[in-house]
Amino acid sequence: MSDKQTQSKEAEICQYSIVVPVYNEDDSLGPLLAEILQVMTGLDKSFEVIFVNDGSTDDSLPTMKVFQQRSPDIIKIVDLPERGGQTNALRKGLDATRGAIAITLDADLQNDPADIPKLLKKMEEGDYDCVCGWRKNRQDTALKAGLSKFGNILQRMFSDLKIHDVSCTLRAYRRRCIADVPLHWEGQHRFIPLGLSLQGYKIGEVVSNHRYRQYGQSKYTHGRIFRVMTDFFKVLETKGKA
Ligand code: UDP
Ligand code: MG
Repeated sequence: MSDKQTQSKEAEICQYSIVVPVYNEDDSLGPLLAEILQVMTGLDKSFEVIFVNDGSTDDSLPTMKVFQQRSPDIIKIVDLPERGGQTNALRKGLDATRGAIAITLDADLQNDPADIPKLLKKMEEGDYDCVCGWRKNRQDTALKAGLSKFGNILQRMFSDLKIHDVSCTLRAYRRRCIADVPLHWEGQHRFIPLGLSLQGYKIGEVVSNHRYRQYGQSKYTHGRIFRVMTDFFKVLETKGKA
């Protein structure tokens, strides 16, 4: 067994770790946790829920603390005093996981926790390292959904990764790849499947539900699109693929 595998085995003290990055999502947190608990208790395996507070300025942190007081064995908080961005929040959350499988999803209820069993089933069936959600019926503005579709087509054209929705943050990861999830610079979370596949990990996908944002606002504007394009070629370039 390699050093990495030994470390991985020691780290596993529960079956599933749910990781949720949070920046000013107070209104969503209660309904989200209720949905997560309903799904996870149905699986009848040990699990933890890790909320990463990314320097929220609303009441997200006090709300998480109430959850933690209620269920200290299940709920963990990684509290980042300043907003560092979604990429950094995901890294800090994944670093805190102790499950054999980590599952990430957004805090805003756009991802549906009811899809988690599907991700896990797919992972088992194909011995995948990472299984991604595919928001086939995406509930965002037409511009956002269209640009995302275009980005996905480009990614399939320029890389060997053929999945349809590379930036859906609902994903499951086996412990053996968690340390290698590429999250070094802000924005890199949009290229996780590509980064893992370039390292030789096996990536799968399942169609997942996607919902309109009910509370709060998106933390991004359409202005990020150009940046996402240049980031994409940066990822390919570093791997000698572009
Ligand atoms: N998020 C974060 N830090 C940030 C921006 C976003 O932790 O600086 C979280 C946010 O609270 C949400 C997830 O990342 O849980 C995705 O953000 P958002 O829903 O705004 O992105 P979109 O769905 O619009 O792409
Ligand atoms: Mg969202």
